[in-house]
Amino acid sequence: MRWRVMVELTGMDGTVRTHEVSVGGATTIEHSSATIGLTLADGKRTLAGLQGHLVRAQTEEYCRGRRRCSHCGSQRPLKDVRTRRLLSLFGTVEVRSPRFAPCRCAVPCCRTLSPVAAIMPDRCTPEYERLVAKMGSLLPYRRARALLSEFLPIADVPAVETTRRRTTRVGARLEREATVQPATPANKARSITLSIDGGHVRSVRSYRVRSFEIFLAQVSNDDGQQIVFSSMPAEADRQREQLRGVLHGLGATPTTPVTILSDGAEGPRSLGEAASLGPTQHVLDWFHLSMRIQHVAQTAKGWPDASVGDRRTGADLVDAIERIRWRLWHGQVKRALDLIRETLATLDTTGAAVSSPVAAAAAAAAAAAAAAAAAAAAAAAKVARVLRELETYVSGQSELIIDYATARRRDEPISTATTESTVQWLLHRRMNAQQQMRWSPRGAHLMLKVRTAVMNRTLERDHATAERWAQRPFRSAA
Ligand SMILES: [Zn+2]
Repeated sequence: MRWRVMVELTGMDGTVRTHEVSVGGATTIEHSSATIGLTLADGKRTLAGLQGHLVRAQTEEYCRGRRRCSHCGSQRPLKDVRTRRLLSLFGTVEVRSPRFAPCRCAVPCCRTLSPVAAIMPDRCTPEYERLVAKMGSLLPYRRARALLSEFLPIADVPAVETTRRRTTRVGARLEREATVQPATPANKARSITLSIDGGHVRSVRSYRVRSFEIFLAQVSNDDGQQIVFSSMPAEADRQREQLRGVLHGLGATPTTPVTILSDGAEGPRSLGEAASLGPTQHVLDWFHLSMRIQHVAQTAKGWPDASVGDRRTGADLVDAIERIRWRLWHGQVKRALDLIRETLATLDTTGAAVSSPVAAAAAAAAAAAAAAAAAAAAAAAKVARVLRELETYVSGQSELIIDYATARRRDEPISTATTESTVQWLLHRRMNAQQQMRWSPRGAHLMLKVRTAVMNRTLERDHATAERWAQRPFRSAA
């Protein structure tokens, strides 16, 4: 069977034109699953053909309309005809771009009119730009490019550099829009939770530091609405206002209380504080605290279990760590610190045992005992080291430690674990150090803007709103 796809175009003046879009098929009645229906190549060719006829017909109709002088109704003189290429998801279409001289009546406009340039300032459709940016934010540019050309009839696939440029350009526009302060929120939130954390991205070799810090925040209101925000402090344009805009969008007013969850680091905390208009409460998030306790518990698992005595000491240690965890969970900072110090004292005794001259005993049994004591001492030193780190952390952040158990019961925010997974997604999946990816601060910052919009599912809306910030080369029309 042979097939032919036609397109029928009806102009606003009623003229009907038909064009052949694509043909295909075979001269046999034999078939297999491979010959049934359209192939990917048929599909691409059909879409590209349809797009070409449609874009050309639409621009011609538009130009005809624009040629008529709105003042006297006569035709403007044709100055010249150029060509212009429009990049779209369904192929690159080359269109005729006539330029019209001013009308002889010269009343309303005395400039040369270039209608096609006016409707295609970016030489690409916004949808094309958005999809290239979206794919570029999700995948390495090279793979994004390969994937786009796999399914879409994009004859001249954008080069890696073009994909990068389009992605960062979209990011720049999104940021520009984000600095605009929104109107008063329609729905006022009763409370806002701001989880804020830092992360690191490896920098390009030419840059003076190995990596640079970025901030990631997850903001939610009592209605369960949630927005992710990210930025690279050194590159951000009015970072505080941008984050404030996010809070505002979730209904924060100057009286809305804001709970700021963090790992206690100064940078993210003060950004959160600065962005909040309402009264703030800082809380050390349980996720970070419990990870540190967990680290001690993991280290204690390596305790030797050669003898009954070792096993008993090991069990006591595990028990002590669980009690430290329990006291911290209930916000009993002082009691937790007391127990940490007690445990450290016990560990120091175990560690000191090896330095006593047990090894002086000549008997084989004594040598074995000495080896066991050495193993215990090594384990004690390891656990003591991580426990001391926990002690430093807890005493340093004691002001931010709350009664998590009660807060949890009252449904109050206690953890930024979700932020942690956001960090994972935003940073590591695309900007991973393991992939040897290196970023310029500006590139990383703008990429994050696009990635965050993709994550918030607002890219389409934000991109359309940010259109007014498009940086277009000024073109003299005359
Ligand atoms: Zn006129």
